[in-house]
Amino acid sequence: MQYTDRLFRPPAEARSLIFQVAYGCPHNTCRFCAMYKGVLYKLRPQVEVFAEFARAAQRYPQTRRVFLADGDVMALSFERLRSMLEELNRLFPRLARVNLYANGRSILSKSDLELSALRRLKLSTLYLGLESGDEELLLKVDKGESAAGMCLAVQRAQRAGFKCSVMILLGIGGCEGSACHADATAALLNRMQPRLLSALRFIDVPGTDMYPGYQTLSEFGAVSELIRILQGLELEKSVFRANHSSNPVPLEGRFPRERDALIALLLELLPRLDQHGPGRLPMSL
Ligand code: SF4
Repeated sequence: MQYTDRLFRPPAEARSLIFQVAYGCPHNTCRFCAMYKGVLYKLRPQVEVFAEFARAAQRYPQTRRVFLADGDVMALSFERLRSMLEELNRLFPRLARVNLYANGRSILSKSDLELSALRRLKLSTLYLGLESGDEELLLKVDKGESAAGMCLAVQRAQRAGFKCSVMILLGIGGCEGSACHADATAALLNRMQPRLLSALRFIDVPGTDMYPGYQTLSEFGAVSELIRILQGLELEKSVFRANHSSNPVPLEGRFPRERDALIALLLELLPRLDQHGPGRLPMSL
């Protein structure tokens, strides 16, 4: 497979065959995100993508899982997505699912009929960065999406049969906005009811550019924020993960059954965390 720049994928896609069908992110404004800064967004020519599909089908004919990169591939037109999915289904007889990153607006730009058609072609998990349920905070970090819009998008996608894997970002409200971020995020997630939920922690790496006055949360603060979010959650049927390398401790549990056990584990961990700094940071950042 031919990749340009750094390739990003969710942890769960480690075993997927990954095709880069576009370069960068069509929005690229989020202050907390350094993933595609400096990458000029452009679509990869369809003929080149299809040629790569064909080469991969020769080498890996048993492929069952595919991930389409880069950022917000759902923003591609319905026709372009449909033709890529048809080609993948034709070339890989054992194909089970195709997953990609999506945003609220890119989901909402597709009609219910279009969503159902893409789902039938085995488009399966949509990874969506909600980041926060706090509308003011989303404006401050230049997310370019409203929490209400992302909520509607996930509800519509899940009704069409997609799995939505929703990511929230601990620490983006800083010290001052932490409580508001936690409460609004829990409330929004309760309306949204995502099937899969992940928590990542914001880390101030080169390429991020947080809003004026932003003060990084300590490791203790980030975990306290997560506890507050978990305490506010009333999810009916979700798998929760905090296994990204930015998290101080890898966590996984099912809601509603394991919510209290997750909270108890984090409460036990709290006294051992760094109260003044970010704690031990992942080597990869
Ligand atoms: S968070 Fe997502 S939408 Fe925002 S700049 Fe990064 S990749 Fe693009």
